[in-house]
Amino acid sequence: MKRITAIFLTLTLLFGLAACCEAMDANHDTTPASSAVGVFDFEARCVLLNSGYTMPINGIGTYSLHDDVCRNSITAALNSGVRLIDTAHAYGNEVEIGEAIRDCDVAREEIFVITKLYPDQFSHPEAAIEEALEKLDIGYIDMMLLHHPGRGDVDAYRAMEQAVADGKIRSIGLSNWYVEELEEFLPQIDIMPALVQNEIHPYYQENDVIPYIQSLGIVVQGWYPLGGRGHTAALLGDEVISQIAADHAVSPAQVILRWNLQKGVVVIPGSSNPDHILENTQLYHFELTEDEMRRINALDRNEKHDWY
Ligand code: NAP
Repeated sequence: MKRITAIFLTLTLLFGLAACCEAMDANHDTTPASSAVGVFDFEARCVLLNSGYTMPINGIGTYSLHDDVCRNSITAALNSGVRLIDTAHAYGNEVEIGEAIRDCDVAREEIFVITKLYPDQFSHPEAAIEEALEKLDIGYIDMMLLHHPGRGDVDAYRAMEQAVADGKIRSIGLSNWYVEELEEFLPQIDIMPALVQNEIHPYYQENDVIPYIQSLGIVVQGWYPLGGRGHTAALLGDEVISQIAADHAVSPAQVILRWNLQKGVVVIPGSSNPDHILENTQLYHFELTEDEMRRINALDRNEKHDWY
């Protein structure tokens, strides 16, 4: 199995697998490629994963959104064209997210839902996967991640591998795994993670970690793209970012999100404000110059805003 996965990955990396994201409902397309695994398609606004599925490159994060606030945020996001939704068992909102998806006019196959198993579920991963499927109630799960490293994480990952084989989950990955953790973890599993989701923003850039993960054919997604609640004012008010935003007639949030995309990092900003949700999708009508990218890269302070 390991060898098959390695051959699959190498082939997809070399030749590409499918025309990326032609339509999310042709999600498992295996026709010859215009895009390679991990290469962002800015036209179609998505990326081909090493699992063969395509994933949008901008989405919405749902940490701390609950009940009607959560349902309304998801509805606003779907109405704004967002097709990538990030949730987790730990956020306690999979039920609301499933309801909003079932209630919307967008076809299920066009929506990409990520959820996560928390370490306190690693001792009973099969039941935890069933719980996520039941709570979301949207048929299959597009992507499931292990939320953090923890006791039993290899067994939990193996249970996710089995769920892929059973057709319950389409792609799997990890969150809060860094270079050392990956080097230890990867030899113990069969299916290469399709995604690693880590904290990434201009004050905490992970410039050593991102290229390492990407070199493995794994797509990187950033959490707290705007710094996280309690930290957004500093980032959105940063002089360099504000100046670049003014030069492009966009908002500081849009500059930060676009900077991520140009680094090959998928963004999932959290918001319950419909105006922000829409604004956070408008990232494709401007491009940061190399100099602007360098100026934002120079803001790195190794300032992590959350630990696990
Ligand atoms: P974030 O996206 O960095 O920031 C969210 C904050 O930014 C909210 O207060 C939101 O307020 C504000 N905001 C959003 N868009 C804005 C805009 N255009 N202009 C001004 N303010 C804006 O933080 P986050 O939501 O905590 O993180 C993003 C997602 O990452 C989470 O929702 C979650 O899905 C994921 N995450 C994963 C992990 C992990 O361990 N894997 C950890 C943390 C988070 P409004 O509601 O007013 O717009």
